[in-house]
Amino acid sequence: MYIIESMEKDYCLKCGNCCRNIKIDLKRKILFFDGIQHLDENFLSMLEIIKTEDDISFCKCKFLENNSCSNLNKPEICKNYPSSPFAYIPRNCGFEGDVFMSLEHVKQKIRKLKEEIIHYEALINTSGKSEQNQYQKIINSHKKFIEKYKPYGSENW
Ligand code: SF4
Ligand code: SF4
Repeated sequence: MYIIESMEKDYCLKCGNCCRNIKIDLKRKILFFDGIQHLDENFLSMLEIIKTEDDISFCKCKFLENNSCSNLNKPEICKNYPSSPFAYIPRNCGFEGDVFMSLEHVKQKIRKLKEEIIHYEALINTSGKSEQNQYQKIINSHKKFIEKYKPYGSENW
């Protein structure tokens, strides 16, 4: 999965909004934080649900104090946030632009792969058996890559 290197840049405005707007789906055990991940019991135990709408709950972390993290053993996902182009970024977060650009980069790559699939599908119709197999392998590998990003909407990019 595509990873951005935001941690190397100091764009954090120390507003604490990412830790008071954590989105989860309790029923399906999904954490929308640094991308879409499994919500484990450890992370869940840190959260206080503020409101729930249509199965999605918005939570504040119990370790957030004066806009800072007081958890000395904070999970890896917190240490790395935001590392994914699909990170859930609150409005006015200092990483907004960086994450947006990373997301555009992934979308561009997926669009290019889709164009190549069309190209190879057309070639298959006019090629011999061994080329057809090669083209089909490329198509399958492209489709597999696109499939990985399906939870983020890759079908529509
Ligand atoms: S929302 Fe963004 S700017 Fe604010 S604390 Fe979190 S990472 Fe930093
Ligand atoms: S442990 Fe710290 S960094 Fe992680 S969500 Fe809680 S307050 Fe934020």
